[in-house]
Amino acid sequence: MIKYNLVCKKCDLIFDSWFASSLEFDKLKKKELINCHRCGSLRVEKGLMAPKLINKTFRDKNEKKDLLKHQKIKKIIDKYQKFIKNNFDYVGENFAYEARSIHYKEKKNGRGIYGTASKKDIKELKEEGIDTQMIPWVENKNN
Ligand SMILES: [Zn+2]
Repeated sequence: MIKYNLVCKKCDLIFDSWFASSLEFDKLKKKELINCHRCGSLRVEKGLMAPKLINKTFRDKNEKKDLLKHQKIKKIIDKYQKFIKNNFDYVGENFAYEARSIHYKEKKNGRGIYGTASKKDIKELKEEGIDTQMIPWVENKNN
């Protein structure tokens, strides 16, 4: 069922009416079965659909979808972060420096590093042949 606000073009009356579908409205209109409640004119047009009905369902659907998507991504990031925390050394903002010392001094402690670097750092490291991976990072404030 769809609720339409109908507007009478003759006397400007606005009234609601229920229809099985928008198609049904068109059919009834063609058969001249829709007329103004007040003046009986057939010049009745569809106004805006009742906003409450439509918006609510749509909004809830999208919000739920977004939430699920967000949770899914968060889970992947969490997994990533756990793996990195267990297998890499955190070097914070010294990332570019540490990455260079590993690369040039061939530090071999078997562990990778992770930390923060600017876009410029990453670009420079890349030019020097040092590969870095960028991953999204979410600070977990419960830790
Ligand atoms: Zn009317």
